[in-house]
Amino acid sequence: MISTPTALSIAQELLRCPSVTPADAGALGVLETLLKAAGFEVHRVTFSEVGTADIDNLYARIGTSAPHICFAGHTDVVPPGDDGAWTHGAFDGEVADGLLYGRGAVDMKGGIACAVAATLDYLAANGGQPQQSGKGSISFLITGDEEDVAVNGTVKLLQWAAERGEQFDHCIVGEPSNVEAIGDTIKIGRRGSQSGVLIVDGTQGHVAYPHRAANPVPDIARLITALNDEPLDAGSAQFQPSNLEFTSVDVGNPATNVIPAQARAKFNIRFNDHHTQETLRALVDQRLAAACGNRIRARIEWLPSNADVFVTKPGAFTDLVSASIAEVTGRTPDLNTGGGTSDARFIAKYCPVVEFGLVGQTMHQIDERTPVSDLDKLTAIYRGVLERYFA
Ligand SMILES: [Zn+2]
Repeated sequence: MISTPTALSIAQELLRCPSVTPADAGALGVLETLLKAAGFEVHRVTFSEVGTADIDNLYARIGTSAPHICFAGHTDVVPPGDDGAWTHGAFDGEVADGLLYGRGAVDMKGGIACAVAATLDYLAANGGQPQQSGKGSISFLITGDEEDVAVNGTVKLLQWAAERGEQFDHCIVGEPSNVEAIGDTIKIGRRGSQSGVLIVDGTQGHVAYPHRAANPVPDIARLITALNDEPLDAGSAQFQPSNLEFTSVDVGNPATNVIPAQARAKFNIRFNDHHTQETLRALVDQRLAAACGNRIRARIEWLPSNADVFVTKPGAFTDLVSASIAEVTGRTPDLNTGGGTSDARFIAKYCPVVEFGLVGQTMHQIDERTPVSDLDKLTAIYRGVLERYFA
């Protein structure tokens, strides 16, 4: 059998490309070469938008039919910070004491390297195709635009893929999902995020003649209390309760003898799968209207958001990933929906998606690093996923 490259060697090659967002610095070329040699059809797709840098992305697929599993991720990284503070160079790909150092080691060149190594190894053992029957597809959806503005990355790449008829059945995003040890956490979803501004209109006037004015300050206090006091829900099977959090109250009034014309309060809602952005906005608008009655003049200005809630319900696919994790690590992963947002929320519009990668502890830090043994474990887990998926 031909020996395939290890996750470590692929990760080192990727780390040596200083692909600080939005630069690519050759990182996608490393993947292109490896995947082409294994028989993948590889597309390099560049997206541009006025005011942002042109971004290179990669889509590669082997096989033409279902079932189709996709590995998704990004090769751009955050800046290294103070270069001199690194124990081993941020872009040297050095291994010391069993640890691989470098910006992107865990977020997430290491994860991509494991997915590629696992796939190449799996294909080599299977006559070069996902299934002996010739059925099945494996793809890689890799963007160079995740860490910063992310306008020329995953969203556009998914649209591009959909337009050419690509259909994904399942997706794994190799973001560092684990908290303490590899195998402890699979992210199966994330809460949605929606911000807004509560605006209460009054009538400006002199404090000595309050009957000629309408003071929005006590009214905004009443409305904040009303919106805060009533829970949005009691949580769901996969999520904690949704939370509305006021973050500021602004009147902008430097005077003590003037009743202000308007008061504003900013807030953010982290919401679960009891809501969509539309139903959530409608619910809060309706509660506001009830709290205002006929007297208070208030409205909410909803801020644009593309962070809708998503969840991949526990089932056959999460079972298969969990089984592979248990086989390699002996751990039963927590199926978690906590934390902030990631590109998985965009992929969730196309197919069930989970996030599972390395341990996130050192991501975005000086001396970002991963044990080489974790790379081996993650590669074995991904390989186990492929075996089970195509069995
Ligand atoms: Zn990342």
